[in-house]
Amino acid sequence: MPTVLVLNSGSSSLKYQLVDPGSGTALAGGIVERIGEDTGRVRHETRGQEVVRERPVADHGTALRLVLELFEEAGPSLREAGIVAVGHRVVHGGTSFSAPVVVDDDVVAAVRALIPLAPLHNPANVTGIEVARELLDVPHVAVFDTAFFADLPPAAATYAIDAKTAAEHGVRRYGFHGTSHQFVSSAVAIHPAVTAKLAAEGRDPRTLRQVVLHLGNGASASAVLGGRAVETSMGLTPLEGLVMGTRSGDVDPGIVFHLLRSGGLTVDDVDTLLNKRSGLLGLGGVNDMRELTRLVAAGDDAARLALDVYLHRLRKYVGAYAAVLGGIDVLTFTAGVGENAAVVRAGAVDGLGFLGLAVDPARNAARSREARVISPGPDAADTADTARPRPGAAAPALVMVVPTNEELAIARQTIALTG
Ligand code: ADP
Repeated sequence: MPTVLVLNSGSSSLKYQLVDPGSGTALAGGIVERIGEDTGRVRHETRGQEVVRERPVADHGTALRLVLELFEEAGPSLREAGIVAVGHRVVHGGTSFSAPVVVDDDVVAAVRALIPLAPLHNPANVTGIEVARELLDVPHVAVFDTAFFADLPPAAATYAIDAKTAAEHGVRRYGFHGTSHQFVSSAVAIHPAVTAKLAAEGRDPRTLRQVVLHLGNGASASAVLGGRAVETSMGLTPLEGLVMGTRSGDVDPGIVFHLLRSGGLTVDDVDTLLNKRSGLLGLGGVNDMRELTRLVAAGDDAARLALDVYLHRLRKYVGAYAAVLGGIDVLTFTAGVGENAAVVRAGAVDGLGFLGLAVDPARNAARSREARVISPGPDAADTADTARPRPGAAAPALVMVVPTNEELAIARQTIALTG
């Protein structure tokens, strides 16, 4: 069985997973944290066992060497596990990359050239690729977080600012979380409840109108028409759009000038404010949705407002994307919050019955790791007989929960390119 090592290099961390793309299982995985600091830490997990090492990790090269040692000591041995390629998560592919590519020196140079567009992420991605190419003599593939959105329609990708300035500085909507939006929307498109709905309505799969809400620490929405992304909420950077754990999402750009001119803040202060001290944390004091909902239940007013702002933004985006798509067939929740927080899913569709959107309380509350339908109505098996819309009524949309798996998506795209 061929396996793929998936690497996700951050500025001070290296996350990894050894994936069997055929079965979809992760054979091992872990994270090296606090790279470059005095107190490094590696956590390696395999077959339910965890190995933790605490020691300084000078750089990403040292981190990867440590990971390779752990694979040999704690298992599984990479060679015995049949590693055939390494898949790298790369945050920004700019307009250069609309699909995964096999890494060569030119690709590394191109990813490096994109650093001005992703100064926090691409440097670490380049380093990760370089050290891995040195240490692992197998094909390496770069999978870009922006690729799924490289083909956005111009009207969605273009900011209404001076065209020459925008072109000069690469200012456009790039979108992020693309690997997840693509993985989830593809899984939705072949789900029996969805194919049955289309069949019952006599529709071509190319007309399938999906909205995907990826709600993790970072959060983004996408509108997908027949497999193609036609709109997404993150923009030039992953700051735009939905309310996130610590990021503001949409704000009036005038706020930035106000804080710079009248508030005495520096550019870096405002950057930190909007990226790290806003969102749920800035409003409710905590960035974790579990803690936030506990505070709300305990009657905390600030937490209540934070949740209300979060849900209001979600509903606004779902409505806007319904307009972009001309209606919604399937609305899907994914990532940490989307997969686990029933209260968020219920709140996000509250009042959206006019779009055919509703959740069934029991289905929404049920816990499962499987892709599932949480809207009311017949089960997937008998949808085909009963899903025909009443004359004059909007066909009820499906609301689904589909667990994302970016590592598996990267592993599959890596195998597809390297054979
Ligand atoms: P990342 O963007 O870091 O990949 P995840 O997709 O793992 O994030 O999502 C992390 C978030 O998911 C956490 O901050 C937490 O708020 C939320 N989350 C995880 N489990 C639950 C749960 N059971 N209920 C509500 N929220 C949850």
